[in-house]
Amino acid sequence: MKMRPKKFTEEQLKALQVESMAQTTEYTVEKTTDPENFPVFEIPVNKKVLVYVPNHVVQLDDEMVGLRMDMPIIHTVKDGRAFRKIRCIKDLSEKTGYGIECPFCSAVDDCYTLANLQINDACNQRGLDPNNTSQEDVKELRRKYFSARPIKNGDRYFTFPITVIETDPKNIKKIITDENGMPVYRHMWYTCSETTYTKKWEAALEAMEDEPPTPAGRTFVLDYTYESATGEYNRMTSAKELRVIAKKIAGSEGIFEKWDKETEEWTPLKAQETIYDNMYYEEEDLKEEAERIMIPIKENIVMYQMAEGSPAAIGGKAQAGIPLRAPAGSNMAAEDEGLPLVGQTDED
Ligand SMILES: [Zn+2]
Repeated sequence: MKMRPKKFTEEQLKALQVESMAQTTEYTVEKTTDPENFPVFEIPVNKKVLVYVPNHVVQLDDEMVGLRMDMPIIHTVKDGRAFRKIRCIKDLSEKTGYGIECPFCSAVDDCYTLANLQINDACNQRGLDPNNTSQEDVKELRRKYFSARPIKNGDRYFTFPITVIETDPKNIKKIITDENGMPVYRHMWYTCSETTYTKKWEAALEAMEDEPPTPAGRTFVLDYTYESATGEYNRMTSAKELRVIAKKIAGSEGIFEKWDKETEEWTPLKAQETIYDNMYYEEEDLKEEAERIMIPIKENIVMYQMAEGSPAAIGGKAQAGIPLRAPAGSNMAAEDEGLPLVGQTDED
């Protein structure tokens, strides 16, 4: 097809010259089905945020209460150049309407197989022993290929509502108020990894005088600031550097009750309904998606296997006896250590 150059009016041309300069190569992925009423909190770059955690708890047993939250296990999936999050359906029985093996969990093994084949191949080409995992060059190659896996094991996340209270950008203590003298605020979904919750939120609770069991009904500063030697700041490091600090706001009981009421319907069910990362998808779609993403991986594995069986490989440098299979269960998690972060949730 021959594409025709578009014709513009004088006015459109003028607007085009201005707007084309402001075009960005960044693509923002919509995080929620309802950005107006159920927006998702985005980690700010090198900033502090004042938040209230609405007071919604669940009774865990006779004595213990827990924060009411959705606790999805999520696969981080590399789809071409984009990262996506897909909720895992592992261990969900027929009672839930699923009862199949999670197609993304099933794909993890093949991802390991290919990564191991690639590592062995790269090591062989450089005369390195792939089994010598303490050697720096081998470590580097392992990091490279393991982090390039398109589908990884699921990680546990926690999702609950927070009320973001607007403050002076330069002074977190200065709350912005409306014409009635009331704080300007917005309820939002907040998600962090289980590790972040344990290391940062629970640490903040332990540091509080009354050591509450949950952050429910309390205010905190989410401190994403950090020192950067290069003067450049990004979201990923901000997430990593998060400190959660309990912060009391004086004379605020009435408004907290109002916010609790307003967030009453921000339940785990609502999180699953509105946040794409927390959503449960049709198993047919999950299967199809996993299969589509795995096409190049499977093709690559076959290629490596064919090369291994070919006379050139037998006569060449290919090494025998190197385990190519995925490490079993618990070893997989260990492989993830020290890998670069992906996504935009709070991760360590
Ligand atoms: Zn899964």
